[in-house]
Amino acid sequence: MLKTFKIVISGRVQGVGFRPYVFVLATKNDLFGTISNNEKGVIIYLTGTETEVRSFYQKLINKPPPVSFIQASDLSEISFRKFDDFRIVSSTIEGKLNLPLTPDFAICEKCKKEIVEIENRRSGYPFTTCVNCGPRWAITRTFPFERSNTTIDDFKMCAECHGEYTDPNNRRFHSQTNTCKTCGIHMVLKDQEGVKLNISRDEIFKKTADLIRNGKILAIKNTSGYLLCCDAGNKEVVQNLRRKKRRPKKPFAVLYPSLNLLEQQLTITKKLRRAFQSTQRPIVIVPNTDFIGNLAFEDIAPDLSQIGIMLPYTGILELLSTELKVPMIATSGNLHGSPILFDDKESFEVLKNVVDYFLDHDLEIVNPQDDSVIKYSAKFNHEILFRRSRGYAPNYFGKKIITNKRILAMGGHLKSTIAFLPNDYLYISQYLGNLDNYDVYKRFTYTIEKFINLFDQKPDVVLIDSHPAYQSSLYGKEITKKEGSALYEIQHHKAHFASVLGEHELFDNTDPILGVVWDGTGYGEDRQIWGGEFFRYQNKKIDRLSHFEYFDWLAGDKMAKEPRISLLSLASPDMKSVLNGKFREEEIAIYKIIKKKNKLKTSSVGRLFDAVASLLGICDINTYEGEAAILLENKIMNYNLENCKSYFNVNSENLISTSLLFENLYADFKKGTKREQIILNFLYTLASIIIDLARKNNFEKIVCSGGVFQNTVLIDMLNDLAGNKHKLYFNRNLAPNDENISYGQIMYYINCT
Ligand SMILES: [Zn+2]
Ligand SMILES: [Zn+2]
Repeated sequence: MLKTFKIVISGRVQGVGFRPYVFVLATKNDLFGTISNNEKGVIIYLTGTETEVRSFYQKLINKPPPVSFIQASDLSEISFRKFDDFRIVSSTIEGKLNLPLTPDFAICEKCKKEIVEIENRRSGYPFTTCVNCGPRWAITRTFPFERSNTTIDDFKMCAECHGEYTDPNNRRFHSQTNTCKTCGIHMVLKDQEGVKLNISRDEIFKKTADLIRNGKILAIKNTSGYLLCCDAGNKEVVQNLRRKKRRPKKPFAVLYPSLNLLEQQLTITKKLRRAFQSTQRPIVIVPNTDFIGNLAFEDIAPDLSQIGIMLPYTGILELLSTELKVPMIATSGNLHGSPILFDDKESFEVLKNVVDYFLDHDLEIVNPQDDSVIKYSAKFNHEILFRRSRGYAPNYFGKKIITNKRILAMGGHLKSTIAFLPNDYLYISQYLGNLDNYDVYKRFTYTIEKFINLFDQKPDVVLIDSHPAYQSSLYGKEITKKEGSALYEIQHHKAHFASVLGEHELFDNTDPILGVVWDGTGYGEDRQIWGGEFFRYQNKKIDRLSHFEYFDWLAGDKMAKEPRISLLSLASPDMKSVLNGKFREEEIAIYKIIKKKNKLKTSSVGRLFDAVASLLGICDINTYEGEAAILLENKIMNYNLENCKSYFNVNSENLISTSLLFENLYADFKKGTKREQIILNFLYTLASIIIDLARKNNFEKIVCSGGVFQNTVLIDMLNDLAGNKHKLYFNRNLAPNDENISYGQIMYYINCT
């Protein structure tokens, strides 16, 4: 007997070829009905025998389209309907959007092959995409994911493209981003004055590669924003780019033309290879110690023993790399600290004095994103996200959050993101940057507005960091006034802790959990600057258990920029000779007076790293955020725990004496112990403190979060020391730094208030 069934599927099911995939599957199984996108995902109506439909349903759920992600599905019988065939019907929206958004996907192997083949109608066409690849979030005005809701809509499909789009046997059947040379997007090469170079379309990448080879700097409009590019083997041009971008030392990412060349020049493990080729295609930070080849290392990653590398993820980068054949610098197109540029006119104004040429195109970008960054620890291959952006944002796939409130979390300040819970899903924005920068602040407010408008939902509650001067907190207060929402403040480090509890679904856990939250700064409940915190979580409550003993916070924001000030703050009288080499005598005298009167204290482990880096002569003044800690980690490659000693033992009161720890370290330094060994001992000390404190207080589970946990050696040592006695939890789908604050705020609010 024939019956009709309704199948509803939610998750990442739009912009991933779901409808054409189902069409082919249904047709193959002789089932009639329809499929369409709606505000919740996809909805399928099928008429057939119950056995046929159930078998179809199982097949679909067990093997959905490659880049899709099913979160929930439901099959139910409805009253009988007669269909004459199976059809994809246009989107129907009955309510507000309630579905995950689709991120950008790196170009797939099949599309890549087509654009480099000579005998192919897509040969040389950089915007070649299919149902499995191409930009999505970057070009999305609104959902459901239909061409008419994206900026691709500015280009009308030619007859041939339309033919592919309507042919169930074609792999571009129902591909919303389908375009070709005839109907699609145009690239133009312009000089510094904005004058178009007179070259044919087929020559454009050859010419661009020539320019790069000849030492020119180019601004390249990619599909998610502008990149600044130049020859990575040419020392002078890299230095030149640094000067013009006002970026003295922060490492640049390098784009390799192929995995093949990369593997000839560096050791690439299986895990790294997978990351390099993933659909997210992030920048992966890898050690450079066994590198063979020609890269201007000292200028690409000054003083570092690691380098950030990525492979082409768009047709533009693929075609350029094919011509260039050598690695090039590919860094976000912006000036010092500003957000990535994406608008043609603005980019021209900002970058005309930085670059020699512009490679532009006429596809509008609406959601600009930086490249994401990841790194693996050397020993345990622990994956750490350093920056979550293109390919990952704006969704977060976790356990469904049960609440009847719409919540907006404003995040932190230095590495800001926002999180929004307007429906059944949680959305976490891409990394937005330091809100002290006015352009970042504008991007931040633009992103909030975009989220609120896209879902057509206003927040009932706005969550802010308890720091009274964070721009995110101030703007959050403004929103509550405008929208009449409730306001709730959450302490910075408790939000960090809650982010890991949320990521690992630990809130319902019954035994106590130790939370170790170490970072640079965060506003504490006692109005001091926290950053070396130990918490206890139990019964939906987070309590401060202990912390690094306070030391003086001197010179305001300057302290985070100048590691030598942390050294001065922690220095005992017998370290005078060390300080003399770093400050003028009158400076020391002034600081002495300030120190006497100072009331602002800190427990920051980030600043302790700074003090150690300065003492060891590694870094006195940062040229980019976190430089001292990164340089410190880069001085060491591997370790042997048996050769490490601890500078501090936890006592029964759980007190961590920062000054005693530092004094013991200094004594070792004075003895002439090798710098590398002191760094290893320091990291070993920190790892031991965590494990000792857990053991003494009977914690089996240990949660770690905060920027300090970007240190991969510290993470490996912790894993070594924990053995099978303790279970360690870190951020996994979010960065350990302040990017996770917005998510942590939501998790804290839902579970602990
Ligand atoms: Zn493709
Ligand atoms: Zn076409």
